[in-house]
Amino acid sequence: MAIAVPGPHQTSFERGSSRQLLIDGQWRDAASGKSFETLDPATGEVLARVAEGAAQDIDLAVQAARRALEDGPWSRMTPSERGRVIHRVGDLVMEHADELAELESLDNGKPKAVALAADVPLAADLFWYMAGWATKLKGGTVTPSVPYLPGAEFHAYTLKEPVGVVGQVIPWNFPLLMAAWKLGPALATGCTVVLKPAEQTPLSALRLGELLLEAGVPGGVVNVVPGFGETAGAALAAHPDVDKIAFTGSTEVGKLIVNAASGNLKRVSLELGGKSPNIIFEDADVEAAIAGAAQGIFFNQGEVCSAGSRLYVHQEHFDQVVEGVSAAAKAIKVGHGLDPETEMGPLVSQEQFDRVTGYLGIGESEGSRAVAGGRAIDGPGYFVEPTVIVDAQPDHRIIREEVFGPVIAAMPFSDVDDLARQANDSHYGLAAGVWTSDVSKAHKLAKRIKAGTVHVNTYHVFSAELPFGGYKQSGWGREMGEEVLSNYLETKSVIVGL
Ligand code: NAP
Ligand code: MG
Repeated sequence: MAIAVPGPHQTSFERGSSRQLLIDGQWRDAASGKSFETLDPATGEVLARVAEGAAQDIDLAVQAARRALEDGPWSRMTPSERGRVIHRVGDLVMEHADELAELESLDNGKPKAVALAADVPLAADLFWYMAGWATKLKGGTVTPSVPYLPGAEFHAYTLKEPVGVVGQVIPWNFPLLMAAWKLGPALATGCTVVLKPAEQTPLSALRLGELLLEAGVPGGVVNVVPGFGETAGAALAAHPDVDKIAFTGSTEVGKLIVNAASGNLKRVSLELGGKSPNIIFEDADVEAAIAGAAQGIFFNQGEVCSAGSRLYVHQEHFDQVVEGVSAAAKAIKVGHGLDPETEMGPLVSQEQFDRVTGYLGIGESEGSRAVAGGRAIDGPGYFVEPTVIVDAQPDHRIIREEVFGPVIAAMPFSDVDDLARQANDSHYGLAAGVWTSDVSKAHKLAKRIKAGTVHVNTYHVFSAELPFGGYKQSGWGREMGEEVLSNYLETKSVIVGL
């Protein structure tokens, strides 16, 4: 397959420019003076040089966040004032939608049209939704029963307080949206933050840092420190004055975060990988299910933690579905994200390209077969073909491990109990899809599947109102919805003897 990467694309982005760290409301170079390059993954060209934050910068940022938490105007704002500031962040994100979508496309590779339709409005909506929570956080009153103090009377209540200084480490697949998922609830609860974006995609988080200041978030409340995971990320996870760490990324690094956090027993929430089953029953609307299976894996180049990468199809429709998803794969227009025709961009980096093409080789050596795609696309850029695999077995690595690319493996089934067992046969438990016209079957299976999100007759529905997160090794805690707030709040019981 050949691809078109016409260029240079007209953008407002100034290639080759420099970016600094945001610490205490100021833009500054890294203490070491070092910087690193961020690339356009469609061409391999340098987009910008970014200050390389490391342990010393993380420490300065944590100190700034501590001051902003203890003494700054942020802690004196009323919930209503805080809510209005967060709401303005959402407004500013939408006012700069085109620019942010372009940055996202350049830095990550994804089609700009997708960023404009999904990433940017979802990020704005998350801020708007969380803005509303700022004024609705509340404890409750309680009547204590104390058997060893007969006759005593009490007035007791609970207070909800910000957990404190929060470290947040995010990945490269939805750089702006992951920043919003993390910052929104932290700000709504009155926390202060040190955010480390992924080294591959720091640009939109840094632009968001400017918009946060413009919206009226006081300096020091959100500090943005790009850098590498092993240095900046690890320093944040281990920092003794960070009260909580929130992480999205691989299960492997999630475990390192847990270990690093144990030094001061900081709170931990994790949103990790997945190997999600998408299940098509004999009574499904087959055409809709085919489209849903294709979108479930090929959206965002397959670089989605909840991608439906294991496709289980009732044997009655197996050939038809494999043919349909393969046709969809072959029809996808792969190209530069800024080309308006493009439906799928490159993978984010050489490393991710090596990982995904490595798994294509592993699948082949295990005895599975690509019926669509299956190969890398000649460069420049980190492009791979949208791929449909058959003949994989439950114990194959291609079925058990997260590929994080546009690769789906289809397997036939006939018995629902066996299907449910296979669907749950994974260390992961992030998401699932069920395609059926039988309402009872759908709800029964939704209960049986061990996953944080179960889609029925749809896939990849994300909304600020809906909790998102994983069972098993897909994570701890939930993002979004009312539920995420508990990640950022401490509960205090106050008891008054009357
Ligand atoms: P990753 O290593 O888990 O990276 C996620 C974030 O963690 C990045 O900001 C990374 O920094 C940072 N990090 C890395 N090592 C760290 C450490 N020791 N301490 C603290 N922070 C650390 O993920 P990746 O290497 O980019 O991608 C590898 C695989 O992770 C993917 O193929 C996929 O399976 C999975 N993944 C899952 C999600 C998800 O949404 N659940 C997202 C992305 C990737 P750097 O930027 O320097 O790496
Ligand atoms: Mg980049």
